Amino acid sequence: NCANPDDVLKIIKDEQIEMVDLRFVDLPGLWQHFSVPPQTITPDSFADGIGFDGSSIRGFQEIQESDMLVVPDPTTAFLDPFTEAPTLVMICNILDPINAQPYSRDARYIAQKAETHLTATGIGDTSYFGPELEFFVFNEVHYDQGTNYAYYDIDATEANWNGHEGLGLGHKLRPKEGYFPVPPADTLQDARTEMVRLLEDIGIPVEAHHHEVATGGQGEIDMRFASLTRMADNVMIYKYVVKNVARSRGMTATFMPKPLFGDNGSGMHVHQSIWQNSRPIFAGDGYAGSSDLMRYYIGGLLKHAPALLGICAPTVNSYRRLVPGFEAPVNLGYSRRNRSAACRIPMYTPDPKARRVEFRCPDPSCNPYLAFAAMLMAGIDGIRTRLDPGEPIDKNLYDLPPVERARIPSTPGSLDAALDALQADDKFLLSHDVFTIDVLETYIGYKRAHDVEEMRIRPHPYEFVLYYDV
Ligand code: GLU
Ligand code: MG
Ligand code: MG
Repeated sequence: NCANPDDVLKIIKDEQIEMVDLRFVDLPGLWQHFSVPPQTITPDSFADGIGFDGSSIRGFQEIQESDMLVVPDPTTAFLDPFTEAPTLVMICNILDPINAQPYSRDARYIAQKAETHLTATGIGDTSYFGPELEFFVFNEVHYDQGTNYAYYDIDATEANWNGHEGLGLGHKLRPKEGYFPVPPADTLQDARTEMVRLLEDIGIPVEAHHHEVATGGQGEIDMRFASLTRMADNVMIYKYVVKNVARSRGMTATFMPKPLFGDNGSGMHVHQSIWQNSRPIFAGDGYAGSSDLMRYYIGGLLKHAPALLGICAPTVNSYRRLVPGFEAPVNLGYSRRNRSAACRIPMYTPDPKARRVEFRCPDPSCNPYLAFAAMLMAGIDGIRTRLDPGEPIDKNLYDLPPVERARIPSTPGSLDAALDALQADDKFLLSHDVFTIDVLETYIGYKRAHDVEEMRIRPHPYEFVLYYDV
């Protein structure tokens, strides 16, 4: 692992690196990259940046002002496990060449500003994030661009309940039965092990991997927690490794939240805590070992949850996941063990260092830099305004009588509704210019035009069931 530019230059020499791959994140959250020969990288590259054309990057500059600079972060350097030529990858920040300032639509910069903001408030000096990304692995996906109808070829030795024939080998996972029988029911043990081995080689410690509840090869790999921006970097590497291992084995991995109707979707529960002077300020002697500060933080997450979901569950497909009956949260409450609540305080150990809140609404289709920053801002707002989250809900929220359940606010029903909520409730994000009006307007405008509107104008296949005979 590199600490500074000199370390990177030394590795380039020692490892006979043939190509340096520079990566940054676009506004919706996908990695973009370009490569330069190693001699292009000099000590100055780490201060002055390396130029590229940002005009076609989603959410970035218009064409007339498209020249941008990437500034590699030496602490992110890793050897790409998937290239033939020895290739060193670095994750970059973006500079606007007009003023040589960090680019305001660079999500990684927003994440870094959120960390600085936390320190400036005096509440804590470090925020830790532990996301649990779930994903599906399919053999093939065919889709019809016109209707967006997808035909999945679920991992052939698992069940195929989506209209195709299985192999008839008898070992078939039925929907919701993937958690978690041993092979041969679980056909992806070796694939997940390879993913974990590569993550650990890159320097990302992993705690466990397992099959998840859904059929279709749904899996999860749990990384050890890390600080905010570092963990968002790790999420990008995680997705890269999962997708490329699947591809190298002739399969395809997806982080879309709800690929299969009638089975669990893929969430990205996010465990979070704040520390001050190496002390966990979320630990206390309140409910489930929580401190007042932790409950205020939860108050902030719950109050701002509808707006947060515009960023943390940012696709039309996200709202097919946030429905009752699939372990995804629908109700905006908190609890120690209740998995139907949006916030959970896990208590696997009595150790105060492990005290944290798990926010269960996010899914892995989000931009992790924006999502972690937004959640931290919501929590800080809760702490600053001493927002009481009310009583915990320890009953299964799905089982409450309808009258009682109606008193608990729900997650928004659609991306459109979440974006409305974000538009109406954005102040908590703007403190200290962590998010800017320009970023929020660009983001919301992009999501409305690209996701909401493009879906709205397409006939859905289920409309044929409902309406063909009218
Ligand atoms: N897949 C579930 C979700 O959509 C979560 C299952 C779990 O608790 O790990 O959030
Ligand atoms: Mg899970
Ligand atoms: Mg969880």
